[in-house]
Amino acid sequence: MPAVGFDTKFKTNSIFDTDQFRLKFNERARISILDEKAQMEYTHYVKNGQFRQDGSQSGSYYICLGNTETMADLGRDRENCPDCKVAQPGRDVAVSEARRRFAIYILRYRTNNAGAVMQPISLALEIWVFGDDKYTKLFERAQEHGDLRGKDLNIKCTTQQYQGYDIDVAGKCFWREDTNAKAQVKELAAVRSIDLPRILGRKVGFEQLEKLVSDATPRIGPSDIDDAIESSAAEVLGINEPAGTFAMARASDTELPAEGTAAVDLDEILGG
Ligand SMILES: [Zn+2]
Repeated sequence: MPAVGFDTKFKTNSIFDTDQFRLKFNERARISILDEKAQMEYTHYVKNGQFRQDGSQSGSYYICLGNTETMADLGRDRENCPDCKVAQPGRDVAVSEARRRFAIYILRYRTNNAGAVMQPISLALEIWVFGDDKYTKLFERAQEHGDLRGKDLNIKCTTQQYQGYDIDVAGKCFWREDTNAKAQVKELAAVRSIDLPRILGRKVGFEQLEKLVSDATPRIGPSDIDDAIESSAAEVLGINEPAGTFAMARASDTELPAEGTAAVDLDEILGG
């Protein structure tokens, strides 16, 4: 084996390496959006018949196999997707209806408990996964404030279980006014290497998905600690989080920010 330096090119490119943006109840964060567009996938939350220690059933998100146009028009495609065929409305179901989930790279500031940015500025690269509720909020902010890149957002967590947030555009963008922070942004922007759709759900073929669906019927049994431990790695990534409260999506617009807002050239902000 050759000797390797501690260089980003030797770092593994695994979804388990990523930091996913999550907040505790009442926690505040200051972030800046790095990507021009969010990655979007229709996903189903499919339970696996296993129970967590708290008695709730675990499961995973799977990428919907529905046809893009059909999904945009109807929000379901019973012909092409075994999940859509059996999906039921509501939260506590074996197979959830298809919901849009988005993933985007963000920069997160090191802050104190009150959410104030600490000096010197220190930024971390994180992946933010969210559903239609937050997409709508970001869409509205982009309509009002223009391209959200190069702006800071103040976030406050209002519900931990479903990661409900208040999202406000801050009056100024700290990293744009700080030479050292700009260098950090440039460096972090260069190491965005994770395939974001993989974060949103597992992609499996029709037959495998059909089998998972038939296995999704809840089994009655005691909680199994081993199962809970086994599923915890995926839970860290949010793959196993409870099905969200997001409304059935029908719009086909996946672009962020909204049409009509001026595009920001990140390289220009960073000085080439
Ligand atoms: Zn589907």
